[in-house]
Amino acid sequence: MLLCSIFTLNAQQKFPQEYFENPLNVPIVLAGSFGELRSNHFHSGLDIKTEQREGLEVKASAAGYISRINIQHYGYGKALYIQHANGYTTVYGHLQKLAPKFEEYLKQKQYAKESYEIELFPKPGELAVEQGELIAYSGNTGGSGGPHLHFEIRDGSQRPMNAQLFGFDIADTRKPLIEGLFAYSLDEDAHVNNSQERLRLPLIPLQDGSYTTREVQACGDIGFGINTVDQQNMAPNRNGVYKMQASVNGDTIFEVTFDKFSFAETRRLNQLIDYEYYQTNNNRIQKLFKNQNNPLSIYGDLKNEGKLNIQDSLDYQYTIKVTDFKGNETLVRIPIKGSFSENINKKVGNETPYLAKSTQSFSANANGIDVYIPAGALYDDTFLELTFDPTSFVVHKDEVPLQSNMTIGFDVTEYAPEDREKFFIARLSQYGRPNYSTTYKKGNRFSTATRTFGTYKLVADITPPKVSPVNFYDGKWISENETLKLKITDDLSGIESFRATVNGKFILMEYEYKNATLTHDFSDGVVTDTENDLKVIVTDNVGNSTTYTAKFFRK
Ligand SMILES: [Zn+2]
Repeated sequence: MLLCSIFTLNAQQKFPQEYFENPLNVPIVLAGSFGELRSNHFHSGLDIKTEQREGLEVKASAAGYISRINIQHYGYGKALYIQHANGYTTVYGHLQKLAPKFEEYLKQKQYAKESYEIELFPKPGELAVEQGELIAYSGNTGGSGGPHLHFEIRDGSQRPMNAQLFGFDIADTRKPLIEGLFAYSLDEDAHVNNSQERLRLPLIPLQDGSYTTREVQACGDIGFGINTVDQQNMAPNRNGVYKMQASVNGDTIFEVTFDKFSFAETRRLNQLIDYEYYQTNNNRIQKLFKNQNNPLSIYGDLKNEGKLNIQDSLDYQYTIKVTDFKGNETLVRIPIKGSFSENINKKVGNETPYLAKSTQSFSANANGIDVYIPAGALYDDTFLELTFDPTSFVVHKDEVPLQSNMTIGFDVTEYAPEDREKFFIARLSQYGRPNYSTTYKKGNRFSTATRTFGTYKLVADITPPKVSPVNFYDGKWISENETLKLKITDDLSGIESFRATVNGKFILMEYEYKNATLTHDFSDGVVTDTENDLKVIVTDNVGNSTTYTAKFFRK
């Protein structure tokens, strides 16, 4: 009996099941799942739908105290963290505003610091909360693509956990979708269906919801990858799956499970996916094998790193099983015949004079431009394409991911000091649009640290930001207004900072980059005069600044 119960313990039961409750008053429907594949990171929480609107009550998932308040323009926007007695932390992101007593606490600190962006660590006992207590209202602040609540549970080491392990009720009777299957040849002599290139294998659907393929002819070390997403009930959102497994002739050789990860490893998502395919097709293939230099902790016990070693004239049955959190599963069975072929479509290597090894640092320079890539930044040894053209410095292409920053430098000796002031280093988008890359200016060398290969150049921004009123104009009476709104934009280097005063007194303005607006809430109670001189100074990333002034009246 005892043995039996030990062996039936599943992952869920290791975690408290009744401790945390739904932080919203609406049933949990997911717009995003834990571990879901995002740009350069795994999603660290559950994105809970909020009826396509803002302002839903957000409650403390369990008793504890507010241990951190982080208000940012980007990222989680307005976020609250609650520390619980059992060692876990819950996180609530993209909030519209905090509950009144916490909002008051926050505003006091923001006014004291004279900054909208702020990070606070209240002491234990300072801001205690009961389970179910109103803590905030849901919103769409920061890097949010629409109103929702980002909800996270972190362990004692601040590692994000799959919140579903804690027993939330989320209806899901739908199987994961498998939308693409790919084969990879993984050593010099390997081949699949007479090719060494990435090969798409058509899926053949079967009556029972599983898939198969035509028999694959292969030889050598090969591996597979899939496009897969999961949908829950009551929502069309294409979320992440929970588990992917692969077996050969019944022996499991590969497993990935999204239970938890650490923020330090989240960028290594780019090693789980076929990054080049993603950059060129905007669709993520998850590899069911592991390349070298990949310490991601989401893998289970792998055999031969999940690769198959196919011997001539032997038969194999390779099976992929994809499972969602509720245990719904989809299978793909791939019959493989070992078959050596001499007539194969060879993979075309792209040799250049610049071989950068993943375990060594790399540097090169010419024509007053330089690049330095530290050891470990590249996952694989790579022949880099470098074109040292000062008007557009090509540093390989964004089909190869970087784990850590490389440094790019430009010698600006030939430019006059007044011209240099307006320069910044830009990365050109695929359409040639310059994007500001944080530029350090030291003597005659301007540099930037970046984790994205691509084309870089010096760009001059001579145009100061634009500032325009949204819900008032100069000289107007606005006694009925609850807010003061302005639009601020910058055409090239982007907004670096802003500061607003009324009659010389700092006023707090919330910056929402998605609609380029600054908003002051009159309920802050700092605008008390009838006649008011507004002054807003907005500065871009090279230091061009615009001072906007207007008079308004209130009673
Ligand atoms: Zn989220």
